[in-house]
Amino acid sequence: MPNMSRPQPICARSAALLLSLVWQMLAWEAPARADDCPRAGTLGTSRVLSVDAEHFPRVGLKSFPQTLPLRDHEVVLTFDDGPWPPTTPKVLKALAQECLHATFFLIGKPASEHPDLVRRIAAEGHTVAHHTWLHRSLMRIAPGETTEEIDHGISAVETVLHGQATTTPTTPFFRFPGFESTPATLDSLQSRGIVVFGADLWASDWKKMTPKQELKLLIDRLTAARKGIILLHDPKAQTAAMLPAFLRYLRENDYHIVHLVPTATPVAADSGH
Ligand SMILES: [Zn+2]
Repeated sequence: MPNMSRPQPICARSAALLLSLVWQMLAWEAPARADDCPRAGTLGTSRVLSVDAEHFPRVGLKSFPQTLPLRDHEVVLTFDDGPWPPTTPKVLKALAQECLHATFFLIGKPASEHPDLVRRIAAEGHTVAHHTWLHRSLMRIAPGETTEEIDHGISAVETVLHGQATTTPTTPFFRFPGFESTPATLDSLQSRGIVVFGADLWASDWKKMTPKQELKLLIDRLTAARKGIILLHDPKAQTAAMLPAFLRYLRENDYHIVHLVPTATPVAADSGH
């Protein structure tokens, strides 16, 4: 029997073609790879800011009177308490999908237990900073133990990244667990040229809440502050789940990401003998 179906009108065939194209686009998930960046349609890192203890010894308005010189709608993303295998990779994926760079304040012990994850954070272009060895409160331990707690954390991360158990950090950025600093420790870090980071705003993600609640809280706080150093915790599942929507919000609301790096140490000029 001959095929008696009538030819479809052009517009119906175009619509079918369009639908098929849309379906293919939806079915094809772009791999989130840091080396694909920059990529059109992503938030991207807007600028790189070099930070050193000479100019910025202590930053973050939650703890200190001064912070980084960010412009309106500029934010710095910082993540504390990793690396943590179940959730840190999700955070890295969300950042890579938007071609962003953040700063990770790592705890030494999990860093030494998950070296591949630490190396991955660094390899994807993020800044790796320090957050002590065991995340004990430096306010509540004996003063004699604070230096050991800080230095053990630094040397654990340095060992993983550079194969040297040095207490001179490649990236001299430090954050106190729970922001619990002491005057003596602050002075000691400043004398060592290590920048102490607080934060300008946070999502309170140490409290249990749904990703949706956390997203709203963070957006409300950012809307009020308009800019700042944001503190999040990559080991928190609710934060890892919330992050893609937050980054999309930043992109759609004209926020700009600033990536922090340590100021390069000047290399002594060759005297030319
Ligand atoms: Zn912490």
